[in-house]
Amino acid sequence: MTQQTAIRRVLIVGGGTAGWMTAAMLARVMGPQLHIRLIESDAIGTVGVGEATIPAIQHFNAALGINEAEFLTATQGSIKLGIQFENWGKLGEQYMHAFGPIGKPLGFTSFHHYWLAARARGDNSSFWDYSLNYQAARSGKYQPLAQIPNTPLQGLIHAYHFDAGLYAAFLRRYSERLQVIRSEGTIAAVSKTPAGDIASVTLADGQTFSADLFIDCSGIRALLIGQELNVGYENWQHWLPCDSALAVPTAARQPILPYTRSIAHAGGWQWRIPLQHRTGNGLVYSSQYLDDNAARHTLLTNLDAEVLAEPRKISFVTGRRKQQWQQNCVAIGLSSGFLEPLESTSIHLIQSAIVRLVQSFPASHDMAALRQNYNQQSQQEFEAIRDFIILHYCLNQRDDNGLWQYCRSMALPDSLAQRIALFQQSAAVFRQQDELFTEVAWQQVMLGQNVLPQQYHPLADQLTAAQLNGFLGDIKLIMQRTAAKLPSHQAFLQQVQQAQQAQ
Ligand code: FAD
Repeated sequence: MTQQTAIRRVLIVGGGTAGWMTAAMLARVMGPQLHIRLIESDAIGTVGVGEATIPAIQHFNAALGINEAEFLTATQGSIKLGIQFENWGKLGEQYMHAFGPIGKPLGFTSFHHYWLAARARGDNSSFWDYSLNYQAARSGKYQPLAQIPNTPLQGLIHAYHFDAGLYAAFLRRYSERLQVIRSEGTIAAVSKTPAGDIASVTLADGQTFSADLFIDCSGIRALLIGQELNVGYENWQHWLPCDSALAVPTAARQPILPYTRSIAHAGGWQWRIPLQHRTGNGLVYSSQYLDDNAARHTLLTNLDAEVLAEPRKISFVTGRRKQQWQQNCVAIGLSSGFLEPLESTSIHLIQSAIVRLVQSFPASHDMAALRQNYNQQSQQEFEAIRDFIILHYCLNQRDDNGLWQYCRSMALPDSLAQRIALFQQSAAVFRQQDELFTEVAWQQVMLGQNVLPQQYHPLADQLTAAQLNGFLGDIKLIMQRTAAKLPSHQAFLQQVQQAQQAQ
């Protein structure tokens, strides 16, 4: 069979993180086959937030051939080893969702069963004693380390904090080098074919651009997928009632912590994301339980450095576009749905949508089957992440605001209720299909928010008390000693800067 792809002209609407990530990857992977144009509006601008990521972003950058030091310098980035959740269980408590493994499984049996078995016999070590990421994060350490030397144990797993605006600018330069054409202007009109596909967009200055495939990266406006194609939105606010955020930058504080902080307050939660040139802060809250003035007060009284700008309000509706690919239009980024930044998943959702699009890229306008499959995969991915985010809310043990009481008593999605019940009874967690968060991520949030399983796997009882203590004790010691020897995160960032200056 010989085939010439009929989908040659791709038009990306929007130049935020979603637009430029899409442009960069399509140009890199399919560049010579496609003619790619991106339209962005300086008058509208971008959402201007989004600073924390998860480790998979490394694969995206690697696929683009981006050098880590160059990337960290260009985006004022720092290393992220996990997210510290403060006051999410009871007031005054904290735990970390640390990336990477915790302990080491024995055969098929997950490590946490052994930890629970030891606990039942009186051991009082913390689950996080067995996490190198946690040990390094809390002592401000970092070194690229694939494996702990002379052991079978995995080293540090990292993601980044970065300035998403600078990342988009970096990817713009990258994309333009690969022949992506940028047009600046505000789209004022959209035309469709008789079959209902998008045919062209027209800017306010009258320029018209047609294409075969349109990527809607227009942000919350959802210019094509929502306004033109009328694809509905599934609202998840009954599970995730926060609908507002106030964002404010503060001066950078040394040392720059290698983890994100998520601090629960009455009526919402605060993020603190350390970058090289500033710290990103914000409060995510539910307008039903906290008014804007109280939210502003909460945020401003919980900052620890000079405020660099007026707090900026962003409103959102948590949920997902019912079809993320409709006709000849694929929605990527905020136009495709929104989940609050509690687990830093939005940029990841952009990344995985792009990879899915590349894998499902249509050769012709006959794309119904690819579209259906893409939409099913997107739905599964969004729902799995949604459940993980709801988990944090529904397990809270706070009584200082109606938000927390509501979240504790709300009816949960069946998929999530089953997972919690399974863990409560047996300590088991099973990762479903290709879902993003690992078993150990679920374990950390549930244990961190005081869900203590009634049982653990019987195989953990095959070890004698001495064997169990030896097994746990060895791992704990290796983690402590390794973390103690690591250089500081600050030293790592300085090295990166020096290497870049030397070039
Ligand atoms: P935008 O940045 O809004 O870009 C939309 C683009 O479309 C702009 O270029 C705009 O000019 C253009 N456009 C719109 N209409 C038109 C038009 N008519 N004509 C021409 N151009 C048009 N994600 C994370 O992964 N980590 C985080 O820590 C994180 N924190 C967040 C905190 C908050 C409070 C919020 C709301 C989001 C956060 N996100 C986070 C999500 C993240 O900000 C977004 O996923 C990401 O920035 C992508 O946005 P976007 O490109 O889809 O939209």
